[in-house]
Amino acid sequence: MIKDTLLKLLAVHGATGHEEKIAAVIADLLRPYADSVETDVLGNLIVRKHGAGKRVMFAAHMDHIGFIATDADEHGFVRLYNVGGIDVSVSVGQRVVFENGVEGVIGAEEDIEGAPKMQNLYADIGASTREEALARVAIGDVAVYAPAVSQLGEWRLASPAMDDRAGCAVLAEAFMQMAQANNEIVAVFTVQEEVGLRGARTAAYAVDPDFAIALDVTLTGDVPEAKPKMAVKLGAGAAIKVMDRSVICAPAVRDRLVSLAKAQNIPYQMEVLTAGGTDSGAIHQTRGGVPSGVVSIPCRYVHSAAETIDLRDMEAAVRLLVAYAGEAL
Ligand SMILES: [Zn+2]
Repeated sequence: MIKDTLLKLLAVHGATGHEEKIAAVIADLLRPYADSVETDVLGNLIVRKHGAGKRVMFAAHMDHIGFIATDADEHGFVRLYNVGGIDVSVSVGQRVVFENGVEGVIGAEEDIEGAPKMQNLYADIGASTREEALARVAIGDVAVYAPAVSQLGEWRLASPAMDDRAGCAVLAEAFMQMAQANNEIVAVFTVQEEVGLRGARTAAYAVDPDFAIALDVTLTGDVPEAKPKMAVKLGAGAAIKVMDRSVICAPAVRDRLVSLAKAQNIPYQMEVLTAGGTDSGAIHQTRGGVPSGVVSIPCRYVHSAAETIDLRDMEAAVRLLVAYAGEAL
């Protein structure tokens, strides 16, 4: 079940640059279905299923935006910097947890001009002195929004880390269902996407795929006065990307995804994202170029502690990946 897999992956701590734990959980999940499971130098998890056809790389990033401890002040407040695109405006008052289990709450300096910026934030971990704070959280330790899942209606879930554990769950589920001996399937669970698609870049070079598809969340245009204006809606199906800031998707990949969705009655929608990018941005520029596309999972409140997805969109994305993997490309 996609929901069970998603909940399992959401619970694992895995800030950008610290993906070992989540990689181990996914590796355990997929080992029974894989011909090989390996981890590369940067920490990308590469899971293969041999096949006679083309080599198809699927990529979903394991990392989750977070905070890194830069120092602690004399009153025991841990000072922070962002790892990836933290939105300061939705951070204050949020609960965070460091990788070693220490819990904290994000606060902001109060006597400042205008809205708080990153340098105004701190984590209150219940310490009273610098020494006490640094005994519990070392400089360089990373925190993420504390995992907590809310069920919104029948199909929707809100949680931190949907970006991109939702994509990881879709890829894991699809990999389990992909038949042996069609194309060569290489599922890559990448590291450090949130700081510039770093893991995908080295993984794509090593894998050297014929085609690539990334799985990630995307924004939606379906909330009140949504900005940016875009057609993607929660619950309207898997989003087939046309373009974002990192990639113009290869027409061959994009059109194949559309025709498969039509033929198999898989709910889908077209996506043009005017902000952000994903792993295909790095993959398609590898070596002599890799024809690349993206299947996105619509998500509200991206990069907040309540990233919200619709499980039906994830199910549609699983079906679309399985269909693509089985095609004669
Ligand atoms: Zn993402």
